[in-house]
Amino acid sequence: MMIEWPAMSLATGPGEVTNRTLRDSIRPGVNHYDPVFLDLFARTCDLLKQVFRTEHDVVILQGETVLGMEAAAACLIGPGDRVLNLVSGIFGKWFEQFITRNGGETIELAVPYDDAVDPQQVRDALRRHRDVKFLSVIHSETPSGTVNPIEEICGVAREFDVLTIVDTALGLGSHPFHTDAWGIDVAVAGPQKALGGVPGLCPTAISPRAWEVMERHPRPVRESYLSLLDWREAWVRHRGFPYTPSVSLVYALESVLAQVLEVGLDRYIGRHATIGRACRAGIRAMGLQIWPAREAIACNAVTAVKVPAGVDASRLVTHMRDRYGVKISGGYKELAGKLFRLGHMGPTAHPAYLAALLAVLERSLLDVGHRVTLGAGVGGALAALEDWA
Ligand SMILES: *Cc1c(COP(=O)(O)O)cnc(C)c1O
Repeated sequence: MMIEWPAMSLATGPGEVTNRTLRDSIRPGVNHYDPVFLDLFARTCDLLKQVFRTEHDVVILQGETVLGMEAAAACLIGPGDRVLNLVSGIFGKWFEQFITRNGGETIELAVPYDDAVDPQQVRDALRRHRDVKFLSVIHSETPSGTVNPIEEICGVAREFDVLTIVDTALGLGSHPFHTDAWGIDVAVAGPQKALGGVPGLCPTAISPRAWEVMERHPRPVRESYLSLLDWREAWVRHRGFPYTPSVSLVYALESVLAQVLEVGLDRYIGRHATIGRACRAGIRAMGLQIWPAREAIACNAVTAVKVPAGVDASRLVTHMRDRYGVKISGGYKELAGKLFRLGHMGPTAHPAYLAALLAVLERSLLDVGHRVTLGAGVGGALAALEDWA
């Protein structure tokens, strides 16, 4: 039997794309050295600079966001380099492996996975460890729906002249992100989360300081899929490519970036903030609790919800998909069974999707034996939508 496509993809990304993104993804096949593609790639980089709010270089790595994190670690971290790794969730912990693999030494500053890192603790850690060279941090932890105070954290790193590596896969487009003004050295993103695009590329912003450190690396990473320096040499300096880029994925990326900027970056982020707030209000009105310890550290693009007593989270998630065609996400790794996650990003950061999502969630909770008043969550969310713009 054919499996039906979901009616709505409201998981933690990738998910729904606009009709315009679909249309723009299907442009004619073309050689990557054709002037039309060179022009499109250059335009995509310009749009990306606007979204990253940077005047410095951007590189579009031809793989998923994890490639960017591995590349940043491989190109920057040398043997014996000390890295302050901030861990507030699963992605933060993962980064330690990239540090270790490149001979770096990890100093971990960890908080529980429902919390965010306190900049004062970062300052204390950097005071204790004067020889730290890099700080790595996840802007928004998708697995737990939390957000770290990146502006303040990177400000502290600057005080100590420490280079920052920031994973903003989920954060870019859903929370303010000022690469240059906040002194971020390497920012790694993904088109498939809050930007509302498709997976497969890794937009990366790189500061002049970071380039210098890469050049001075004892064994600079070159002629490799992980090499940021290859991209600088090929694209930034000579408008060429180190290897064939994923042409059709670039079509899609150019389209989503243009759409974000047409809405207006601040307004686009504001929409995510409004929908995030309304979703959390809806969850509370339903009698459930959000997973993040405080409202102030909740992510705008993903709402993580504590699994209520007596409910089997994976059954709830499967039920929503099977009976109503609505795809949400459960928890994974150490968070499995403790939470489920609602995505509202890109085109789905919209009142219409939110109302449908909460309505189907209420019905599904009832179906799996949890008492809710149908309509309570939807009403609570709609009441919190005054500043939708
Ligand atoms: C999605 C995401 C990535 C990319 O990881 P995948 O699980 O391979 O999609 C990296 N970091 C963060 C914070 C993410 O949300």
